[in-house]
Amino acid sequence: MLTGAFVSMSFPINDFFDQQSPTPLTYLTTINGKRLYLKHDYLNHPAIQGNKLRKLKYNLLAAKANVQTLVSFGGAYSNHIAALAAAGKAFTIPTVGIIRGEELTDVSRWSKTLQTADENGMQLHFVSRSAYRDKENAPNIATIIAQIPNAQLIPEGGSNALAVKGGSEVITELQAQLSPIDAIFTACGTGGTLAGLIDGAQTNDLNATLHGIAVLKGAHFLTDDITRLSQQHQHANWQLHFDYHHGGYAKTTAELHDVMTTFTSEHCIPLDPIYTGKLVFAVIDLAKKENHHPQNWVIYHSGGLR
Ligand SMILES: *Cc1c(COP(=O)(O)O)cnc(C)c1O
Repeated sequence: MLTGAFVSMSFPINDFFDQQSPTPLTYLTTINGKRLYLKHDYLNHPAIQGNKLRKLKYNLLAAKANVQTLVSFGGAYSNHIAALAAAGKAFTIPTVGIIRGEELTDVSRWSKTLQTADENGMQLHFVSRSAYRDKENAPNIATIIAQIPNAQLIPEGGSNALAVKGGSEVITELQAQLSPIDAIFTACGTGGTLAGLIDGAQTNDLNATLHGIAVLKGAHFLTDDITRLSQQHQHANWQLHFDYHHGGYAKTTAELHDVMTTFTSEHCIPLDPIYTGKLVFAVIDLAKKENHHPQNWVIYHSGGLR
């Protein structure tokens, strides 16, 4: 006989992913001959949202199968840490977060992200900024990890080969939803999501240009990181845009605010100021500037709504 406790302890992760339906793609508007569509990936899960669920999928399946503890890194406001903790709770996978900032040992200074991660059962460790910067070599971080049974590390931001594989599945969904697709745009933090789109487009013979909008200032490291993460980078037609960061990560401008407010009131689609707001701003600007024949452009709404 199944008891309630037994059922809640073994959330069927394989069933969850098998039963996930494609997130909607809707037409928004036409600007200068560019028909803009939006992939509503923020609707895939209320807590493990958008690209974070895509990137965690195969990491979670592997951790469940191999009885691993998933360990990752982030700052006090990291969407990736929030998503990992929520996933750990949903699928009963133990999680550990190694968090930047020793001062956060003081619980009264926790962000909402950290409070929720803690409530979701993530074990939190706080390390100095210098240890965090040197996370591969810092002795105290090595000691923390050595004490975790069957630890599986996921890099900061969640971008590894399994994340790229999960991200590539956005392309198979899109191909069933729209044809032709001339360009796809995503926000870039670490570049894992764009690497997934690149690999998905190549392996599925989708002949679209993949565009990444860098949300950090001076994010030229992205070119190398995407080259390292993507198996297909030399074949695909992809491009990064470095001029839409609005001052840097978590910085904003009045211009950005105006575009976001107008967009949300016209289309009833929520945006976040860190990633998807900058993405929409960039796509509208590029659509006005580039004079091609009519094209279908897809905006990948990666989530970030908390
Ligand atoms: C984390 C995040 C990104 C950045 O994804 P990368 O794979 O690191 O480039 C983009 N959008 C949202 C909403 C995010 O939370």
